Amino acid sequence: MKAKTIILYLLLGASLLFGKPTIYILATGGTIAGAGTGKDATTSSYDSGKVLIQTILQALPADEISQYANLKSEQILQKGSQDITPSDWITIAKRVNDLLQQKDIDGIVITHGTDTIEETAMFLQLVIKSNKPVVLVGAMRPSTAISADGPKNLFDGIVLASSQESRGKGVMVTANGNIFSASDITKSNPVHLDTFKPANIGILGYMWNNQPYFLRTSNQLHTLNSQFDISSITSLPRVDIIYGYAGLDEKAVEASIHSGAKGIIIAGVGNGNISTSAQEVLIQASKMGIKVVRAGRMIYGPVTQWGEVDDEKYGFITSWWHTPQAARIILMLALQNGFTEVQSIQKLMLQY
Ligand code: ASP
Repeated sequence: MKAKTIILYLLLGASLLFGKPTIYILATGGTIAGAGTGKDATTSSYDSGKVLIQTILQALPADEISQYANLKSEQILQKGSQDITPSDWITIAKRVNDLLQQKDIDGIVITHGTDTIEETAMFLQLVIKSNKPVVLVGAMRPSTAISADGPKNLFDGIVLASSQESRGKGVMVTANGNIFSASDITKSNPVHLDTFKPANIGILGYMWNNQPYFLRTSNQLHTLNSQFDISSITSLPRVDIIYGYAGLDEKAVEASIHSGAKGIIIAGVGNGNISTSAQEVLIQASKMGIKVVRAGRMIYGPVTQWGEVDDEKYGFITSWWHTPQAARIILMLALQNGFTEVQSIQKLMLQY
């Protein structure tokens, strides 16, 4: 008998012995909960976050689901993910931490809009204190569309969250048959089903025939190994992202300083490069104690130290593996958790 078949029999035996895992679904809205506004199921207009989780679950094959998990569900939010805020991240994370403390909850699936799913996933990756699986799923087509992708992604999410193999892998997103680490995912296309891409290393694995196939694990610190704690926080400091382009002047940086930002992420051009006029004001910001992170406007690859910018001289930090939006989350949590030294925040960018 092949090793894989033996493992499957062992898993089946274990599930018969110990019962099926209980997966708790937290619904937040998004296109997976979208309903079309047009006359038919083939056109593109829709409202996101309209359909409640009980209705979305009815689109799943109940018999198959019951082979994998017992489900519980809760509508924690109901909005498009363009409206998700840092305060929503805290609400979701605290609820996930509370649920995962319970012995009878084995994993969490979060339904979420795809626009900012990577940000909620990254936040959870850094603050969830459990090795039980946490999986986020979304959809590119609303629930009323022909060939909607939400039910399949949700089904895969439930199977992934109920798998023993998913334990300790950190927060994951599954979409279009791929498994992504929250540490390495970005939305790359506004319309394609195959929108999610890993910015650096690659997918964690595949979902196939109701089973996860893992190819690798993430080396970045997460969940139980993360030092960030949100148990006593209710808000996060303001950190702005400024997009780089040819002709960027100092005005956006000045506006950010005046708005009281404690940190500024610059989505610079190339290897996080910044126009001279914007950079001069960023140097002033850094001298004022505002943390400045050089990230990049390209999807792939790192923004490194020791490129064209003298980071040590100006007190700048670089994002390394992180998109501007992921670097922003690390910086917000670092500031909230009392990190003040540029070098120690730089180290966090490399570790997480
Ligand atoms: N605007 C939607 C959202 O992020 C898009 C989607 O879910 O695909 O909520």
